[in-house]
Amino acid sequence: MDPSARICLIFFGPPGAGKGTQAKLLSRQYGIRHISTGDILRDAVSRRTELGLTAKVIMEAGQLVPDEVMVGLVREGLSSPATARGFILDGFPRTIPQASALCTLFGELGIGEYRVVEFQLDPDAIVHRLGNRLVCPQGHTFSMSSGELHPGGPCPDCGAPLVQRDDDRAETVRNRIRVYDQETAPVRHYYEERGVLVSIDASSSIDEVTRELYRRLFGS
Ligand code: AMP
Repeated sequence: MDPSARICLIFFGPPGAGKGTQAKLLSRQYGIRHISTGDILRDAVSRRTELGLTAKVIMEAGQLVPDEVMVGLVREGLSSPATARGFILDGFPRTIPQASALCTLFGELGIGEYRVVEFQLDPDAIVHRLGNRLVCPQGHTFSMSSGELHPGGPCPDCGAPLVQRDDDRAETVRNRIRVYDQETAPVRHYYEERGVLVSIDASSSIDEVTRELYRRLFGS
């Protein structure tokens, strides 16, 4: 891809693969919009909007919010002038109907060139990462596997208290992985057939994944 042209990306992969972390870095580096459907829903939950009240129960069960709701949110996000330089869709599409609705939406919005980055991570690593994940209210994400950070402790970036996400509890994680295998994994084939898939190994360090991502996308 040419980094000076509009950058249109979809980040695809299981929960805990590092999509959000890499999306934030890339979005800052290139001034492109990061659209995380999980973040949009968590914001609605914390503001107790109508969407939030519906989504909360579904998210805590590790299930998926209905396609038509999600497509509406993404349509709104992509129609914003903030996507002029480009965007990264993080956590969408998660079902085949969402992928096909997105294809229609791209057509309507005149988006022709895009890439789907697949973050590959095996199930044991997913369970380990999610079980150790801590977040703060600003969305900064850390691992407590080094033993330095713990729930209730201060976020190293902003000082707000760190917590475990409700849906990162072991029981919900198992359900999220099951839902991923059933509903989301087939989306990979959808994009592979269209020749837009770029697969990267997401098991290495944040810096190594970033380097690999830039190399594969921009050849740099
Ligand atoms: P995430 O932060 O991407 O792991 O998303 C957290 C939760 O939000 C998911 O487990 C789903 O319940 C919900 N969610 C996020 N994105 C979608 C989507 N594209 N379709 C349906 N549900 C979603």
